[in-house]
Amino acid sequence: MKSAPARNAVEATLESIEKRVPAYGDLARRFGPLFLLRASLRDGLDDARLAKPEVDGAKLSAGIPILAGCDLSMWKAEFAKTAMALLPMLAESLGLDDAQRSALDDFLRDPEHVLGLVQARIDGNWKHFENTSKQWGAIPDTVLLYVSENVCSPVLSAVARSLGESLSDNSWDQGNCPVCGSTPSISQLSPREVTDLDHLVGGGGKKYLHCSLCGHDWRFKRNACAACGNDENESREVFFKDDVKHERIEACHKCGTYCLNIDLRECDAFPDLDTAQLGLIHLDIHARSKDLSPMTPTLWNTVEP
Ligand SMILES: [Zn+2]
Ligand SMILES: [Zn+2]
Repeated sequence: MKSAPARNAVEATLESIEKRVPAYGDLARRFGPLFLLRASLRDGLDDARLAKPEVDGAKLSAGIPILAGCDLSMWKAEFAKTAMALLPMLAESLGLDDAQRSALDDFLRDPEHVLGLVQARIDGNWKHFENTSKQWGAIPDTVLLYVSENVCSPVLSAVARSLGESLSDNSWDQGNCPVCGSTPSISQLSPREVTDLDHLVGGGGKKYLHCSLCGHDWRFKRNACAACGNDENESREVFFKDDVKHERIEACHKCGTYCLNIDLRECDAFPDLDTAQLGLIHLDIHARSKDLSPMTPTLWNTVEP
């Protein structure tokens, strides 16, 4: 049987959230199936058959992400299939009414429409969502944006995964993703490594930012703000709950943003970082009570307390 690494990680992360913070149970049950389906779709995409974008070292050194200016139609079939597979679950978790659901169904049946949404998301062309919403009256632009991100996620994360070494061979010190250009939704300090030789456990603690769209994790300076590059100690601050020190808010008072961080040296297993955010809403609420804005607005960090 083919293994399902992404799906297994989502399952374990949802279980641990429900166990640790029962108050998030409802949310985990409402969005869990969507996360699981996205992970299954990602696991089901065969790296070997997926078209690969060109990894241009000169472009990366100049701070230009791989997918910027790239023809996304090479994955048109994958995006279209993903959209149809996700549609029922998206409609359910967003609580769409019948009219919205059927309008969205009509719209997403055309692969060109799906590609248009994906392209607009990568290009940051927000006007496209407004215009499409006006044209297809029943579907709000915020729903179209959320749909486009959910369609992007499994496909682009498989694309990022398929790039493997060709990506890590290139240096990248930006605060946005080298693959798709999106900002991070969370960061992690890498887990300790067990060496084969003498079972010594050590190392870890390197900082990686996690892309909010394609899920790629890239190395970043540990003591700097990913939004503005500020590395002065006086204007950066870390908050955490006394009994859960490995889940933190990293705040930058220079630009007024924060990003959550999980120290994986203190975790038993590597969580699914997209799912894990659902169990950290209390930190987002705390950060916003300090007048800080999330580096990347998501469904979780914009929830009203
Ligand atoms: Zn990305
Ligand atoms: Zn900053």
